[in-house]
Amino acid sequence: MDKGIRKRVDIKSLTLPELEAELASMGEKTFRAKQMYEWMHVKLARGFGEMTNLSKDLRKECGQRFTYTALQAVRVQESKIDGTKKFLFELSDGNLVESVWMQYKHGNSVCISSQVGCRMNCSFCASGIAGLVRNLTPGEMLDQIYAITLLTGERVSNVVVMGTGEPLDNYDNLLTFIRILTDGDGLHISQRNVTVSTCGLVPQMRRLAREKLQITLALSLHAATDEKRQDLMPIAKRYSIRELMEACSYYFEETGRRITLEYSLVRGVNDSEQDAQLLCRLARPLHCHVNLIPVNPVKEHGFARPDGAGIRAFQNILEKNKINGSIRREMGRDIDGACGQLRHRHISDQHHRNAHECSF
Ligand code: SAH
Repeated sequence: MDKGIRKRVDIKSLTLPELEAELASMGEKTFRAKQMYEWMHVKLARGFGEMTNLSKDLRKECGQRFTYTALQAVRVQESKIDGTKKFLFELSDGNLVESVWMQYKHGNSVCISSQVGCRMNCSFCASGIAGLVRNLTPGEMLDQIYAITLLTGERVSNVVVMGTGEPLDNYDNLLTFIRILTDGDGLHISQRNVTVSTCGLVPQMRRLAREKLQITLALSLHAATDEKRQDLMPIAKRYSIRELMEACSYYFEETGRRITLEYSLVRGVNDSEQDAQLLCRLARPLHCHVNLIPVNPVKEHGFARPDGAGIRAFQNILEKNKINGSIRREMGRDIDGACGQLRHRHISDQHHRNAHECSF
């Protein structure tokens, strides 16, 4: 490749020191970087054109030198039950990602995607059906939050990385995303209000522990024995529950942050009394929080959730064993609330209609 041609950098994916270095190489003063960073990450500008305290020449040069991530909403669904909103965004290369906005008493929460598709292929999840397409850049992860803030007109206080994708399979971009999101010069979301959910990539969990962030790590456990977990999640063939529990303890030791264990309840698969007892045995020494998620049926997979009595019976066993836990309040069940469902349905609708049609 011609040495003179370099790939254009996504300016929204740069940390402040990186942006300062870029602008310095263009002969600009350091404070210009701070101004641009504020336009992008505090004022949530949608392009260089909005940066009115910068000269037209500088804006033009930046437009030639950098790409500017600004996601376009192609579909928005609002739940009639609880006001949850689900957004389908188009990326600059035409790929689609989905994000969810939820209102809670303690503030607004956004659930973002970390990859286009996913390669983990968990048996109940819609995200892995078509495999992994590509990783999201830090800018694309940030802009899901920024675009939603602008579209709803409301501040976001909590961010959960629980949408499509395996965040620890996109480790470096995830870390840059967290650093910019929680930066005092950016949107400044508290690290304690950020949750990253993983299917259990042990080496990355340990690496994340050593970063000593104050974020919450959630582990998608879903089964209390290796055999059962292997039936639900292919990644369980790589890492045993024992290795996972050791990595969880290590995370707690290094960061002082309690782990969350996620457990999707699937009728007749992992919802028996014995399953609950085994789960208690794993959870107790970790002093963790257990989040029970009645499985969201995905047409292609054919799993069902236990009925109300079954869910309560499972929860009672956890309570009796003094395990700190909750049943995930279901948000947006009427609008394809579960991971990957909206994108998956949108793509298959398009496929069936054999046309590119977007409703907004
Ligand atoms: N890859 C990450 C984050 C994405 S999914 C992870 O595995 O944790 C967020 C959570 O929702 C995970 O616990 C995932 O297993 C769960 N999930 C996915 N599809 C679901 C469904 N149809 N019903 C219930 N939970 C589901």
